[in-house]
Amino acid sequence: MSGIVIIGAGHAGVQLAASLRENGYRDTIRLLSGDPDFPYHKPPLSKSFMATEDAALQPLRGEAFYAQNAIDLRLGVDVARIDRNGKSVICADGATIDYDKLVLATGTRARNITVPGADLPQVFALRTATDARRMRDALPAMRHVVVIGGGFIGLEAAAMLSARGVQVDVIELAPRLLGRATSGAVASAIADHLTSTGVRLHLNQSISAIVAQDGAVLGVQLGDTTLPADHVLVGVGAIAMDNLAQEAGLSTDSGIVVDGFLATDDPDIFAIGDSVSFPQIHLGRQARLESVQNATDQARALARTLTGQPDRYTALPWFWSDIGTLKLQIAGLSEQPDQFIQTHDTHGMLKSVYHLKRGELIACETLNSAGEHMLSRRMIAEGLTPGLAELATGDLTQIKLAYQRLSDV
Ligand SMILES: Cc1cc2nc3c(=O)[nH]c(=O)nc-3n(C[C@H](O)[C@H](O)[C@H](O)COP(=O)(O)OP(=O)(O)OC[C@H]3O[C@@H](n4cnc5c(N)ncnc54)[C@H](O)[C@@H]3O)c2cc1C
Repeated sequence: MSGIVIIGAGHAGVQLAASLRENGYRDTIRLLSGDPDFPYHKPPLSKSFMATEDAALQPLRGEAFYAQNAIDLRLGVDVARIDRNGKSVICADGATIDYDKLVLATGTRARNITVPGADLPQVFALRTATDARRMRDALPAMRHVVVIGGGFIGLEAAAMLSARGVQVDVIELAPRLLGRATSGAVASAIADHLTSTGVRLHLNQSISAIVAQDGAVLGVQLGDTTLPADHVLVGVGAIAMDNLAQEAGLSTDSGIVVDGFLATDDPDIFAIGDSVSFPQIHLGRQARLESVQNATDQARALARTLTGQPDRYTALPWFWSDIGTLKLQIAGLSEQPDQFIQTHDTHGMLKSVYHLKRGELIACETLNSAGEHMLSRRMIAEGLTPGLAELATGDLTQIKLAYQRLSDV
């Protein structure tokens, strides 16, 4: 038996290997990672890893875990091709590895910008440990950084750099930060927080070039003006790594297309994590999500399916981001909400935004309000919506009582 081959040892791939063993899978597990680093948590790369010169990568599992669980982890192994007829994968070095079942957990890559100067050495992206080390090594020389893109990773890094004394300008094409990922109210609260720490925001702006002299970045071209900068961070989103699937003739649509059981259109090939377009039951359509929750919960569901307990993936999405001292947490997915309820803390700072659609709670965003986030996850997953008056208090005790009354019915 050739067992299960997993391509990608990120959050999804490592969780799948672990869950397969927990569920009693006894055959071979091969975990192939194009990344040369021992599998690590990605979220800290734009957060704590940047905070000090010597913060270490946080391993997803200790080194002993792989040997103890007979998981054949191979680092720095790039899979170049899938041979579906031969049921094998062909690595970049020409090696062939057979599989009974193949799982693609290939994640995303950073979207590039194509303006002149984008390939200068002082221009960074932030997806991998290699990227993060390169950027951190340059930090002592940074005085003025322009972040292109007002998404989560760019804003987290902007806050970190600002806290380390670097002048940061963020350039965003849209009229507000964070696109459709958050409500306008949350985007404004985050914008206020960043500006209060000295970060300058330039909304409705796009750059036409990164300006350099003698190979050194001088600034970015914004319309007729040049905004000075010595380094640039590009955070304009991610692209699903679906090329292997596409070249193997599997369905892709800005992501590897899978069904509710995370199966591709080849019965022996599955896909999980950031690279996957799956039937998102909370939206009622195919969607691709980029979050640790989605990657690890899909891995757990697929492990059950591959060990004889078929499990349709239905987990409620949730997400977090740390931007300076703000912890944003989002429970559920918000599409076309028709009502928002905002609550504030005693200082008048935005604390939570409840999203409702036809009277039903569908999502909740919180800022530094972990209790409300956890309770919202439960309420949304169980389809229970407390009275609007209770939600509007933002008071955890009152909302919890209202929830308990509903769940007792
Ligand atoms: C800087 C940063 C901060 C983040 N912060 C947060 C956060 O605060 N909260 C949150 O929920 N999410 C956050 N995320 C997103 C989160 O990390 C991803 O959702 C998660 O990593 C997805 O897991 P994955 O296993 O699908 O993909 P990944 O973790 O990206 O792993 C995919 C792996 O596949 C490998 N691979 C790809 N192609 C091949 C190939 N052909 N051969 C061999 N190997 C291959 C890659 O090398 C990679 O190691 C952050 C991401 C980044 C980059």
